[in-house]
Formats: sequence, C-alpha cells, structure tokens
Amino acid sequence: GKGAAMVTAVAYRLAAQRKRIDAALAPFLLTLETLQEVKNKMRTELEYGLKRETQASASVKMLPTYVCGTPDGTEKGKFLALDLGGTNFRVLLVKIRSGRRRSVQMYNKIFAIPLEIMQGTGEELFDHIVQCIADFLEYMGIKGARLPLGFTFSFPCRQASIDKGTLVGWTKGFKATDCEGEDVVDMLREAIRRRNEFDLDIVAVVNDTVGTMMTCGYEDPNCEIGLIAGTGSNVCYMEDMKNIEIVEGNEGKMCINTEWGGFGDNGCIDNIRTKYDKEVDEGSLNPGKQRYEKMTSGMYLGEIVRQILIDLTKQGLLFRGQISESLRKRGIFETKFLSQIESDRLALLQVRRILQQLGLDSTCEDSIIVKEVCGAVSKRAAQLCGAGLAAIVEKKRENQGVEHLQITVGVDGTLYKLHPHFSRVLRETVKELAPRCDVTFMLSEDGSGKGAALITAVAKRLHNVGQK
Ligand code: BGC
Ligand code: MG
Repeated sequence: GKGAAMVTAVAYRLAAQRKRIDAALAPFLLTLETLQEVKNKMRTELEYGLKRETQASASVKMLPTYVCGTPDGTEKGKFLALDLGGTNFRVLLVKIRSGRRRSVQMYNKIFAIPLEIMQGTGEELFDHIVQCIADFLEYMGIKGARLPLGFTFSFPCRQASIDKGTLVGWTKGFKATDCEGEDVVDMLREAIRRRNEFDLDIVAVVNDTVGTMMTCGYEDPNCEIGLIAGTGSNVCYMEDMKNIEIVEGNEGKMCINTEWGGFGDNGCIDNIRTKYDKEVDEGSLNPGKQRYEKMTSGMYLGEIVRQILIDLTKQGLLFRGQISESLRKRGIFETKFLSQIESDRLALLQVRRILQQLGLDSTCEDSIIVKEVCGAVSKRAAQLCGAGLAAIVEKKRENQGVEHLQITVGVDGTLYKLHPHFSRVLRETVKELAPRCDVTFMLSEDGSGKGAALITAVAKRLHNVGQK
C-alpha cells in the first residue's frame, strides 16, 4: 500500500545519498599498494635532496642542520629558548643539570602572535618577538643576565653553521615580508639591538623536529629520528655524512631536516590529491607549496573537511542544503575539534553540540556524516604520514646495513598527541610498510623548548659558538 511505497521511497533516497557520500570519500581510501608507492616516491625524493646535482630543485629539501650528535648527559647550565612556529609562541628558561642528578627544569610563558604580526613586516615580527623576550626576562627577574639562547624556528632554513639559518620560505600561517632569503639569527640580533635594552648570546637556530629528536635522545640514545605531526608536518633524522653531498666530510653523522612537507610540490603525488586538496591549497597562504603537509597536518585537515562538507551541502546531502556563514569561514575546524568529533567516547548528541559551538546546526544524520568525513580525512593523513616515515626508517636500516633495525622516533605535535586515532594508524602503517624495522615511538615532553636548550648546551660545549 501507500505506507510501503513511502518506506521504499525513503530507502531509495537514503541509498542514493549513501552512494554520493561514498563517492566523495572514495579518493581518501588508499590501498596498501598506493601507500607502498607513496613510500617509494618519498624515498626517491629523499635521495634527490641529498645529491649535489638534484638538491637545488628537490621537493624534499633535506637541509643540513650542523647538529652532529645527540646529548650525552654532560650538558649543563641556564639557557633561554624561543619556540616560534608551532601552535603557540613561547619563551623559556631552561636549567640543565648534569651528573648523577641530571635533570631539566623549565619555566615558560606563552605569548600570542596576532595575525597582523604574522603577516606584517619582518621587522614588526622580530620586534614583537623581542618585546616578548623582554617581558619574560622582566617577569623572571633576569634582565641583566646575558644568557645563551637557542632559537627553535619551525620553518625551512638553509644553514651553513649551527647559528646561521636563511629562511627558505614561510609555511603554515606565517607570511611576514622581507624575511625569505634572510638570516633569521641576524634578524633577531638586529631587533635586540634596535631595542637596546638587553643583550643575548644567540648560539643555535633549531628546527622543532631536531629539538624533539634531541629531547628524546637525552633519554634514549637510540632516538635518531624526530617527527612533528602538529600544525605542520616534518621529520628529521641522523644521516651518514658520506651521503650528504653538499656538506664536506665523510665521517660520522649529521641531522638532516628533511622538510618533507614539500614532498609532491613537483607533482609526484598529484595522482592521489583530491579536488578538495586542490581547493585547500589554492585558498592557502602558499599555493602550490607544501602539498604533502597540506594532506597530513593539523592546520589543513580541518580545511579539507570543510571543503568536503561544503560540497556535500551543495549536493543537498547535508545541513538541509544550506551553506551557513560559519561553514564559509576558513579555519573553523581546529585540530582540537576534529579530535573531539572523532572521539569514540563521544555520543552523537555531543558531536552535535560541538558543531553547534562552531555555528553549524546539524541533525542527527548530519552529525554521523560529519564524523565520517573527519574519519576519512584524518585516516588518510595518518597513513600518508606513516608511508613517509616508513621510507625514512627503511633508509636508516639500509644505511646501517642490517637485516633488522631497532630505532626510536621522538614525536611531538598536537595531531599526534590529541587526536584519538592518528597515532595508532600512523604506527600500524609504518609496521606494515617497513616490516624489517622495529620502531619505538617516544612522546617528547616539550621538545621544542628543551631540545633547543640541549642543542645550545652541546654547541657551547663543542664549538664555543655565539659570543658575538
Ligand atoms: C615547517 C617545518 C616544521 C613543521 C612542523 C612545517 O611547516 O616547514 O620546518 O618542522 O612545519 O612544525
Ligand atoms: Mg612545537
């Protein structure tokens, strides 16, 4: 009768809806074969970055860091550290004790960097940084002390020594003018000079991946890789000097900041990029750049989700077909919201409440779909990140010429730490794609700050740099 016909009509509508949602999410499902391919391509790009002839045009830049060893426990002293480029900007005071009672004590203060400073002039940015340092020194009551400083600067820098770093290009949310191609240590020194209020001894400029590796290396000498899965995405690792063609010398190892976020900027992974990825890229501050990062890191995952939701809404499959003001807003889905939405402990009603907070009025059906979209995007991110990491550990294994490699990866980043599934999927993928490597993941406690101080301590001990 009539009732049965209506039921059939509803069932038909639901099936049709399902089909279109599945179609939108299908390109996010990666087969093992595809992941293997991503791993192989990453390996190829890593090699290009290390070779003299191909290095200049490589999409994975493989930047030498002049960090040649992990800490040995004899480091000591009081240091300042700056941490710029993650979720927060921080200034830290780090006290390192050596010997039997070795320990690291830290005090830190978080400062905001307003958008207009992140995207203003370089001078304004560095003046602001120095202003924050001044506040911190004042607050701690140490304005007179000329402490050695380690600068964690989480952007690609070409280094010629541990205390020099030329910014290759801004990433993530930064776009201050007149900085690219400039030495960030010089810019910091000049800003300190402009203020003419205190002096600092800038000893090291450090990528956050390197700080993370060093922090974990302090506890576990087997830690020779640092991974950040946060606002941005990147890896560093200890490479044999003989494989680093652009640095003199064949003995020992040096840490390489891979800057793997740029993987694919030459188009080599375009076959797996979806139309949503392309939209996110085009709407970003650096179109065409950091393509892999834009598929794997916290700053962009929410944006991919948003693009899919807009598309599904346009197709009339979500939010009653109405694109709200909120859905048009860039950056509404921060990592913390994605993490909440995907938490298995959360009832759908709570998912709806989160969406409500973001200004999105959802039905129960909507909230199921949103959760599904988030799941597809974050799972792909973790798998891609795992494929990249598999390439790194496999390379380490071959470098060492062993059948089986045992290695520790120091990890930091909001995505890895906050997301309910990211870390597990990442680990599973590495295991699957690099079966001959036994990888231990070690969470770093505040790698950027502590690591910068440790590197500064090592640098002071070894080279006696700074003091200019
Ligand atoms: C930067 C890297 C950094 C990573 C994680 C990327 O955008 O290019 O230098 O390590 O973000 O913060
Ligand atoms: Mg950080």
